[in-house]
Amino acid sequence: MRPDEPATPAGTGRPQRRKAVFLDRDSTLTEPRHYPSRPGDLVLQPDVGAALRALQHAGWALVVVTNQSGVARGFLTMNALEVMHERLGVLLAPHRVHLDGIYACPHHLDGTVPDYRGPCPCRKPAPGMLHRAAYDLELDLTRSWTVGDSPCDIAAGRAAGTHTALVGTRPYGGALPDVHCATTAEALHTVLRSHD
Ligand SMILES: [Mg+2]
Ligand SMILES: [Zn+2]
Repeated sequence: MRPDEPATPAGTGRPQRRKAVFLDRDSTLTEPRHYPSRPGDLVLQPDVGAALRALQHAGWALVVVTNQSGVARGFLTMNALEVMHERLGVLLAPHRVHLDGIYACPHHLDGTVPDYRGPCPCRKPAPGMLHRAAYDLELDLTRSWTVGDSPCDIAAGRAAGTHTALVGTRPYGGALPDVHCATTAEALHTVLRSHD
């Protein structure tokens, strides 16, 4: 340690790191589809635009974290995925919502595309995408929430140290979330009302 470095890295006076909502994409932010691969496959869930706008207005960072093993399986390319995520921006713009980041894991152990076949630290339930976003965007994971419809979302959120909200009405056997809501909009309003 150099003499001019502070002895306590977590000293006072630093700008506070932002809290975030980590959003699963498929069946959470957007309507369920089987391996969505075209921009037109992305349709926002009911009432999420206004809820996201309210969260953003309240200072939350909005970050999509999505497993996209369709890339490893050869259903779509990374370029096609990029085009889809531009479309997501277009869908949210009328609600004056701007995503702070979109993180996608293209990998899968059973992939057929060599570049994306194999284990990785980013496919949920691993917390790699959340850790990456927290580093890139200077987020406070302990004050953040993960919202998703599947056990892997809840497990990733818990592993990263966030609060978790499960969305949906299907039977569920995964790690227990902090809250369970029928719809994504309801979950987002619950996050908005939460206090840290
Ligand atoms: Mg999902
Ligand atoms: Zn990955």
